[in-house]
Order: sequence, then C-alpha cells, then structure tokens
Amino acid sequence: MQRGSLKTLELVRAYSVPVRDERARELVTWYLRTLQKAIDMIWDNIAWGYRFPKLVRKRGRTTVITGLKTRIPMIPKDKVFKKMLRDTLMKDNPYASHWVDAVIRTAYSVMESWRKRYLKGRAGKTKPRIRRRFARCKTTLMKIDYQAKTIRITLRPGEYLTVSWRSTWFEHRVRDWIVGEVVIKDDRIVIPFKSSKEVEIKRVVGWDSNELSLDGYEPSIGFIHVDLRPLQSMKIVYERKKAVAQSKGKKRVYEKYAAREGNRERDFVNKLVAGLRRILPNSIHVFEDLGKEDLVSNKKVEKKRRKRNARTPWRSIHRRMSESALTVFVDPKNTSRTCPRCGYVVKTQVGRTFKCPRCGLEMDRQKVASVNIRKKYLEGGGKGKKAKMRGFPHSDDPEDSMKAELWAGVAPSGRKPMIWAPMKGTLKAMKPRVEGWHQLI
Ligand SMILES: [Zn+2]
Repeated sequence: MQRGSLKTLELVRAYSVPVRDERARELVTWYLRTLQKAIDMIWDNIAWGYRFPKLVRKRGRTTVITGLKTRIPMIPKDKVFKKMLRDTLMKDNPYASHWVDAVIRTAYSVMESWRKRYLKGRAGKTKPRIRRRFARCKTTLMKIDYQAKTIRITLRPGEYLTVSWRSTWFEHRVRDWIVGEVVIKDDRIVIPFKSSKEVEIKRVVGWDSNELSLDGYEPSIGFIHVDLRPLQSMKIVYERKKAVAQSKGKKRVYEKYAAREGNRERDFVNKLVAGLRRILPNSIHVFEDLGKEDLVSNKKVEKKRRKRNARTPWRSIHRRMSESALTVFVDPKNTSRTCPRCGYVVKTQVGRTFKCPRCGLEMDRQKVASVNIRKKYLEGGGKGKKAKMRGFPHSDDPEDSMKAELWAGVAPSGRKPMIWAPMKGTLKAMKPRVEGWHQLI
C-alpha cells in the first residue's frame, strides 16, 4: 500500500449565540434598508451589452454558439460610480462607516450571484429583493478576545455590541479555532469558526449519488453500498401527511409536518455523514458536481439522472460532507456510460446492468459510475483541473478489488441501526475493519 499524501482540510463550524439587545434589531433594520438601496442603485446603473455569436471550430466543422441571452448585464464597478454609491449611502448612516462598506460588499455579491444565475437562464430580469433579516459584519468591525472568548462589534465609534461564546454548549468544539465574519440577526449572532488540519490521505472514494442509494468504490474495500431507502420512506410518509393537511386547508398542521420532516432529514444526513467519516477516515470523497448537471437541458441528461428526484437531499449530504471531510466534485459527464475496464463509451444503455460491447465487462451501472467518478478525479477531472493526485493506482481492475462489497445503512431516529449484510453470490462480506459504524449510530 502506498503512503498517502498530506492534504489540508479546511473546517468551518457556525454556531449562534442568542442576543437580547434592541440595538441588534435596529442595526439589522438599517442594514436591510441600506442594502436594498445599494442594490437599487447598482441595478439602475447596469449597462446592457450585446453578446456576439461565437464561432467555434471543432473537428473541421464550424459551429455558431449564440448563448442563452443576447444582452448581458454589466454591473458598474468603476471608481466614480463606487464613490457616488458610498457617498449616497453615507448620508443616512448612523453607524460606523465600515458598516456602509460592509453593505456595499454584500450588495455586489448579491448582484454578482444574480448575474451568474441570469446568464445561465436560472433567474429572470428582475431586481433582487432582500427578504432575510441579517447584517453581515466585516473583520474591521470586530475585535476578538480569544482569552475571554468574546467578540466586540463596533456599532459606532465608542459604542459596541459584545457577544461571548464562553460557557456555551459548543465552547469545547471550537477550542483554538479562528473566528470568521459574524452575521447579526434580530435575536442572535451567528459566529463561524474556522480551523484547518493536515490529513494524511490513504484512500480516494468515488461516490455515485442515486435516488435510493449512495454507491461508493475504493480498491482496498471494494464497493460500498449505502442504503437510502429509510430516508425515502420517511419522506413519502410525510408527503402524504402534508398532502392531507393541505387538502383540508390546515396550514398549521402542514407546517408542523414540514418542520418535522426537515428535522428527520437533517438527523438522517448527520448520521450518514458521521458514519461515513468513521468508517472511511483519511479519505478524499469524490462526488459528481450536481450543479453542473443543471446546465444541461433535460433531454440531454441521462434518464437515471432525471430520476434522481428531489426526495434525496443530495445538496445537503454533499455540503455536510464537505464541512467535515475532504471532498471534491467532478463533472458527471459520461460517468455511467464509460467502461471502467477498457474506457469505451457506450452510446445508449438500458436496464441496470452495464454491458461493454468492446471488452465484454458486465457490471451494475451504479458501480460502474462510482469507479468512473473516482477515476475522473485521479486523472485530473476535479474542480480547478489541478486536482490530479499522485501515488494512487489508476488502473482499477474490476476483477480484483470489485469482488468485495460493503453494505451500510442509517436507521432513522429512534431505531436500532440497520447495518451490514453480506452480498449474494460471489461477493464477500466486508473486512472486519469497518465495524465501527454501528457503534457510531
Ligand atoms: Zn470495456
């Protein structure tokens, strides 16, 4: 076995501390009003440019690419405009001037994300409206005392709002962590804590995200099949309950079920992520970049992908994983259509089994995808293109390492964990090293 390489894992944990201070609410109200004003001003000064069709030559053919939008919004960023914006906002500012800068920065990031979504066809030509009540602080407005575990937030020169995380339930969880930019809400302050640690990477696990399962592959273990059906059945039960409440016009009851469903789901995702971390320490987890998939028109998306419906909270699973383990995302293109043995790309495939017309390999399609997703990362298909890892075997010979299979599941809250089951036929049950899972959940 090769020795792993070191990677830095950036960890972020956010906790909130309740604040009973009218000044927090007042600040949030001012912030919201000023932020919307800044957005209004930027919006009114957008220049709508033309995008010209692009000519692309590929394999001797010339293609015209026109894009989704012909007129593109150009957000004003010149010094003159920025000064005018700042001066206008300063006129009605009872707070420290850094607060105006904090507002401007947030306004630009709101506009940039709208612009991105607009160009991708995901947002209309409508001005963003801020509804959430919050005020994002800047580090220049914060003084942190790590000894006393307090954060002093400047409201105006000489006037402060102080918050402490001493004696909170999470105090021990963020010992020696660095405080990031806090977010002020009406009744609480959200503090993000950051830390990084060096992780020695011993495994790279490829994960195929499916509607009813999470299918992983790692050569020293084999396949890892995580059953997600308990989550699905829980969601179906709540969907029915919600539908009944809705048909009877009982809004309160509906909301109660929706909240309960959300809690159950979060609980499931937390247990799943904790379990995966426990049985697969020192790993890089490779997932498909599902955000990228949205860009492809529905027709082009493979059937299997379309079926992966809203019931499986992929985004929250991926996000929770990224918070506590090293994760990378690769382009999902062709991952379930490429032969993991010879690399042949099959045009169309029906059914659960992948059959390679070139080398004759037959394998479950979800397994094929997990092998390919892992391979994609190892060959440099990760985000940023430079994700290529050295020191890991590239040729994943399906015949050797793919005979073992590990089955894992997460039991919904309140029940005993449902755990390992050996596979049928030639597949062997897992090696004893993964026993930690059930102790965990
Ligand atoms: Zn093949």
